[in-house]
Amino acid sequence: MTTEDAARDADRREIQRLRELIAHNSDWLWEVDAQGRYTFCSEHSLALLGYPPQEVLGRTPFDFMPPAEAARVGAEFAAIVAERRPFAGLINRNLHADGRIRVLETSGIPLFADDGSLAGYRGIDRDITPLIGSLNPRLVQLEALYAAAPVALGLIDRTGCFVTANRALCQLLNPGSDASLIGLLAADYLPADQLDVTELFTRLLDAERLPAQPLERDGRTYQASVQAVRASDDALIGLTLAITDVTELQRIRRQLAETNAQLERANARLSELAETDHLTALPNRRRFDETLQIETARALREGTPLSLLLIDVDFFKRYNDRYGHQAGDECLRLLARLLREIVQRPTDLPCRFGGEEFAIVLPATGAAAAQQVAERLRHRLHGCAVPHGSSPAGRITVSIGTATLDEQPTVTGPLRLGELAASLVEVADRCLYLAKREGRNQVMAARV
Ligand code: GH3
Ligand code: MG
Ligand code: MG
Repeated sequence: MTTEDAARDADRREIQRLRELIAHNSDWLWEVDAQGRYTFCSEHSLALLGYPPQEVLGRTPFDFMPPAEAARVGAEFAAIVAERRPFAGLINRNLHADGRIRVLETSGIPLFADDGSLAGYRGIDRDITPLIGSLNPRLVQLEALYAAAPVALGLIDRTGCFVTANRALCQLLNPGSDASLIGLLAADYLPADQLDVTELFTRLLDAERLPAQPLERDGRTYQASVQAVRASDDALIGLTLAITDVTELQRIRRQLAETNAQLERANARLSELAETDHLTALPNRRRFDETLQIETARALREGTPLSLLLIDVDFFKRYNDRYGHQAGDECLRLLARLLREIVQRPTDLPCRFGGEEFAIVLPATGAAAAQQVAERLRHRLHGCAVPHGSSPAGRITVSIGTATLDEQPTVTGPLRLGELAASLVEVADRCLYLAKREGRNQVMAARV
């Protein structure tokens, strides 16, 4: 045997040994070109993926992954290729020819051409499905939930790319397209003026907890909640995005607020109606009683005087009989107008006491001033000259009784308060009776 023959023989034996090593290795050995296409494939592709080498050659690793996984791993692998670096422990999920998922752990080293350009990668794949098999059903369930959740969910890595994006998020950010967002730049799909990914990361880096971010899109209102994703060493490695459509919620809130406002207005109107006389629109007896109590208390507390006028139309029954009830009502409205006109302070309260009787509560008003108010009313009414053919005066007149609670030392107490308010009415009523008895169309005054 020549030395040449001996060398060839040694080469053959070496190649045979390598072939056997490859064949008996439990891992799958492969080579891909610069485009990621398999150029060498050991027999183990059949065990790991269910395809013999001849069906694998010319295809890429991503052809054997579900689309979303292909996008995720593709993005990860693109970063490795860009740096032309070796890699190890790249976990990826593949679709076996039997339809089941196989989880492979891939490692590889770059291959370079003579001119230094990247020629491809050489590496191995190991089947780690049994290792994570026990986790799989739960994982699948979670993924199904994630995919179908009505809330738009996504995970963005530090390069600003979507690592995951569920169906709702894809539909929201990329409507009308079935394409996945995985591996794509989030900034291309999020409105920068409302959700700036770079800014979000900056804020999260400052360990800031972000409040829900409002988001407007296609006439609908959303709320985006952003959370940091941190590695075990606490480094910020990504962010999760959860976007909820709150349009309906806000509409209901607005409607509720509007209904509440309407209810409040209705309530206010109702209590106004409950305290208003519908014929004259003056405060009614109920309001009179309340006000008199309040003002009596104030007068006692502050040591100020308080006066009350009771006004009664003279011969009003005859007026009704002669001119009709309608004319009588008109006359009462006129009197209401005059009562409003002659009071000068916002705290003065003219009201309809009942029937053809009116009252005016005059806080901080002494006897003389109260008498002036009474006389002013008589004068104004005289000036109106409303004909009353069945009255000796020939026109509508009123009799007025006034009662005044004088300034006195501060004394309080619920009993005294009620008594005082009642005696004001009593005294004014007695004066009114006197005014009638003395010939009507006049004012009688007394102190409590
Ligand atoms: P006097 O001078 O003594 O007060 O005589 P008078 O007729 O005014 O007194 P009386 O109490 O006998 O009659 C009051 C009348 O007022 C009887 C009632 O029909 C009338 N009256 C009470 N409320 C109303 C009302 O709302 N509208 C009209 N048109 N009349 C009313
Ligand atoms: Mg009367
Ligand atoms: Mg009367």
